[in-house]
Amino acid sequence: MDVDDSAPRGGGEPPRIRRLEESVVNRIAAGEVIQRPSSAVKELVENSIDAGASTVSVAVKDGGLKLIQVSDDGHGIRFEDLPILCERHTTSKLSAYEDLQTIKSMGFRGEALASMTYVGHVTVTTITEGQLHGYRVSYRDGVMENDPKPCAAVKGTQVMVENLFYNMAARRKTLQNSNDDYPKIVDFISRFAVHHINVNFSCRKHGANRADVHSASTSSRLDAIRNVYGVSVVRDLMEIEVSDENAVDGIFTMDGFISNANYVAKKTTMILFINDRLVDCTSLKRAIEFVYSAILPQASKPFIYMSINLPREHVDVNIHPTKKEVSLLNQEHIIETIKDAIEEKLMNSNTTRIFQTQTVNSSALAQANTQKEKGTDVSTATGAKSQKIPVSQMVRTDPLDPSGRLHTYWHGQSSNLEKKSDLVSVRNVVRSRRNPKDAGDLSSRHELLTEIDSNLHPGLLDIVKNCTYVGVADEVFALIQHNTRLYLVNVINVSKELMYQQALCRFGNFNAIQLSEPAPLRELLTMALKDDESMRDENDKEKLEIAEVNTEILKENAEMINEYFSIHIDQGGNLTRLPVVLDQYTPDMDRLPEFILTLGNDVTWDVEKECFRTAAAAIGNFYALHPPILPNPSGNGIQLYKKNKDQMASGEHADNDLTSTAPTEEDDVDQELLAEAEATWAQREWTIQHVLFPSMRLFLKPPKSMATDGTFVQVASLEKLYKIFERC
Ligand code: ADP
Ligand code: MG
Repeated sequence: MDVDDSAPRGGGEPPRIRRLEESVVNRIAAGEVIQRPSSAVKELVENSIDAGASTVSVAVKDGGLKLIQVSDDGHGIRFEDLPILCERHTTSKLSAYEDLQTIKSMGFRGEALASMTYVGHVTVTTITEGQLHGYRVSYRDGVMENDPKPCAAVKGTQVMVENLFYNMAARRKTLQNSNDDYPKIVDFISRFAVHHINVNFSCRKHGANRADVHSASTSSRLDAIRNVYGVSVVRDLMEIEVSDENAVDGIFTMDGFISNANYVAKKTTMILFINDRLVDCTSLKRAIEFVYSAILPQASKPFIYMSINLPREHVDVNIHPTKKEVSLLNQEHIIETIKDAIEEKLMNSNTTRIFQTQTVNSSALAQANTQKEKGTDVSTATGAKSQKIPVSQMVRTDPLDPSGRLHTYWHGQSSNLEKKSDLVSVRNVVRSRRNPKDAGDLSSRHELLTEIDSNLHPGLLDIVKNCTYVGVADEVFALIQHNTRLYLVNVINVSKELMYQQALCRFGNFNAIQLSEPAPLRELLTMALKDDESMRDENDKEKLEIAEVNTEILKENAEMINEYFSIHIDQGGNLTRLPVVLDQYTPDMDRLPEFILTLGNDVTWDVEKECFRTAAAAIGNFYALHPPILPNPSGNGIQLYKKNKDQMASGEHADNDLTSTAPTEEDDVDQELLAEAEATWAQREWTIQHVLFPSMRLFLKPPKSMATDGTFVQVASLEKLYKIFERC
């Protein structure tokens, strides 16, 4: 057969590469700068502010598709400049590239007006100071359609954009189909009005008498916010200020207003100006939302107005054609500082509040407890369900002790179910943060923190910071996506490391989880020793002695562990408080005995650095997100919740036929326990997604070892994915 080897694969000639016509290039570029009517309004209003206007009025027809009109009383445009006003890359704000470093104006690319002429019909009317009349001129595709016509004009400039996207059918259609852009426009103007308090803004629908935003220039920011967002918002705001002038790596200041615990809203309002530019900073927003949900779990989403000022050379304004996202030097440090400031502000404004931890169990308990306080009989008031016992009491790890063991010491011999339900009702007691000065100066702690830094794996850090959470893969792994890759992440390992690092970061500076009743160390230790495989051969008397010794060790070091790690042991040898290592998170109390044993046994008390390291590691292990002790009821796990399973396993049904014992009937399954197990597993999944991963993004510095020890596994293909699943 005749084959022409020189012919390209797939047959035929490769397509020719051609230079696009300039008008096509310009229209494509224009579509990027002016994505929707609201982006045109933003550019026009910014131009007015750049022109030094003290009044800016906006009128809009058909969500901006028919007409956008922005009038200002700024310095106007020179007659000589009108011919090039709407050419691409003509600007009065920048001449050399270096000017970008110190640019103060919002515009500088000279693209906005030009872009509008490629996707709409632009008419400019302007007058400069000292002129008797102004000029009006229309533009299309970057050039004047006619010579400027003299006309009567009031001070400043009016830009009118008609029929936006008239030549981009698809864009016009989507915009017509999607919600009207007018609310977005109102939103922009509102934000500008809050920041530029000495400018009068108004925004209305064309032909309407009433303006939807109307702000009068004022000297008070709160007045401006009240003007735009109303009295009810202002009532719940607190002023906040941060300046970081001592920092070696750059100076920044922030001032603004943030909502307090009384503010109620479903959505976050975040008005952020960095060096007077209205921008978005998703990571900052997320960090703030996280602080709010951690400290005020019951409260709504926050209202934030924030103006950040940085040395101009620290802001790269040129990473986005619409300048909406900016890139900052030391972004992480800035976010961290702001986060801390907000946290402190919220704490201080709420010192008297007691916060319930936000777990399914404790909220149910809180309900039960209030019922009890009121003297109502829980079982009759809320039905049988409210008698549910917290999971930790129902743990059946020891078949000889089927009702769980924790309660035996928590509540002595009490058989009162309701009273028992107090036991895991742990509360975050918010203490005003203590001055971390003395603790913070300890050099061994610094050494440990430095070790974390020098051990950091930058690639993993990037993954952690920029990943998208996909879901829980199994009891140990969660699936995340980073760029085009999927990774399995060992939840236990990462949470252990995160808690370890947080224990050192928050060192001497923890909030506390108050146990509802003091837990005697001796009994916790005895319980842990009973579980400990390596202790199997010791007799009870020896175990008691070990418990005794460890209790003494912990009592001796009580002052220090309280001071540094907020683990409080009272005079009588009872544990009363645990640290909040991660906001919004309480460790699994079933692991408390084991933790106390580790503290007594494995912490090196006499060498400072080792002591901090081992204590933090013990905390890390306790707070890590281990799988719950109750087996996962999904899939085959359901077998474990069959009633009388001990009997069934014990011979008489050994060679039964499956149909008679399969848990097809509801009655075969311990429904109460099953429901608890399901709730616990669902809670864990929720915590992984909403607490662990957001916190990792903010705080975790993944060590190099995690790249090779199976903590992060890249899933290259589906087959490989299955293999990994099989292995776990
Ligand atoms: P940029 O703002 O990036 O310079 P634009 O295309 O938005 O680019 O505007 C081009 C130029 O037109 C500006 O540099 C400014 O000199 C002038 N200009 C635009 N709008 C106004 C206005 N409202 N008042 C005075 N001058 C204006
Ligand atoms: Mg501009």
